[in-house]
Amino acid sequence: MDYQAKQDLKALFETRLNGVMRMYLDTCARCGLCVESCHVYASMPELRYTAVGRAEVVRKIFKRYFKLEGKLAPWLGEVLEFNDGTMEKLNEAAFSCTGCRRCMVHCPFGIDTQQVMAIAKALLIGADREPKILSMLAAMSIAKGEGMNMTRASYAEALANLDQEVRAFWPASPVPAIPYEKASADVLYVPLAGSHSIVPAAAIMNAAGENWTLSSFEAVNFGTFLGDAKRASAISERIIDEALRLGVKEVAVVECGTAFRVLRHMIGEQPFKVSAFVELIDRYLAQGRIKVDKSMHKQLTTYHDPCQIAHNSGVMEQPMRVLRAVTDYFTEMTPNREENWCCGGGGGLVAMGELEFRMKSSRVKAEQLRATGARVVATACENCHSQLSDLNEHYGLGMRVEFLSHLVARALVKPA
Ligand code: SF4
Ligand code: SF4
Repeated sequence: MDYQAKQDLKALFETRLNGVMRMYLDTCARCGLCVESCHVYASMPELRYTAVGRAEVVRKIFKRYFKLEGKLAPWLGEVLEFNDGTMEKLNEAAFSCTGCRRCMVHCPFGIDTQQVMAIAKALLIGADREPKILSMLAAMSIAKGEGMNMTRASYAEALANLDQEVRAFWPASPVPAIPYEKASADVLYVPLAGSHSIVPAAAIMNAAGENWTLSSFEAVNFGTFLGDAKRASAISERIIDEALRLGVKEVAVVECGTAFRVLRHMIGEQPFKVSAFVELIDRYLAQGRIKVDKSMHKQLTTYHDPCQIAHNSGVMEQPMRVLRAVTDYFTEMTPNREENWCCGGGGGLVAMGELEFRMKSSRVKAEQLRATGARVVATACENCHSQLSDLNEHYGLGMRVEFLSHLVARALVKPA
């Protein structure tokens, strides 16, 4: 790595050094309270897989370039120069962390390791060493949005073809069963790719008599997984613009934790409300707008709290209430809510396609699932659903993995 490349990375690092980040980098007392918090360390007990171990890589670079002792006497140790070995360490630290922020729950200073890893990811992008699969997915997502005008008609036709599938859940659905780009809608529902993320949600909203419309754009934000702030914001801005253009009062985000957290907490104040779809279901049940038949679901069922929806966004009681409405056979996982173990697939790990590390680093999650004795695990996040499905197969758990919305759609009490 030449002198200029190092200077460029130093300048890039400096752009991320706000007051909070300096506090995170200066304050760690190395008390170790976060060590046992990380599912990766709990499954693979090595120092490099602790929150503090990961953050130390970034902290040592910080010391080298921004602290007096590192500048004057780098040979005293405890510092890292930008070079190939350091970039490898950053890559390992950043992409073995799922960004679940469970460690933050236990840190007395509230140090947010996900944010520290965001610097690691930014430096990897700056050095052109980020995982190329995530770069490609983010670029494809942006290009797909830009080409939406060309594909609008075929998208509308594909939605019309789902009409009967929606009616199978809710026969009294209006025409069309999936309203698309409806200007006077109250709720803009933002799905993922694939009808599984549209059909059950459409049936539930139709059953509730919701005035809703479907978004042209998918919720998933590969820019966030990548740690690329510009691309992350380009992806979420398409949804913001659409919500403003249609004049909706609320944006309901499909079962996708990261997409929800980005839109709820990371885009600043907007003239519309942002909700997770499970919040809408909970509201419809509380208001008596939908009714569900408990006799439809008699298998012992547990719930996996997606980190970005539960402890990172505070949506913890709603899914439990929804599950208790859907079945009498609900058992909570231990620990749960803000203490729940991450599924192990966040932070872009599922999208990167790698399996071996994901399975090894989530052994503790598999054990937690097995201990419930449940036959079904429900969740409200596509990423968690994929990871739980892989864990189920890898560890032979013999469970069925379900989206919460699918359980509810199947249990809808149909009009007589
Ligand atoms: S954010 Fe999650 S995966 Fe990352 S260090 Fe903290 S506990 Fe571990
Ligand atoms: S709990 Fe907080 S202060 Fe203690 S080692 Fe972990 S990050 Fe540092």
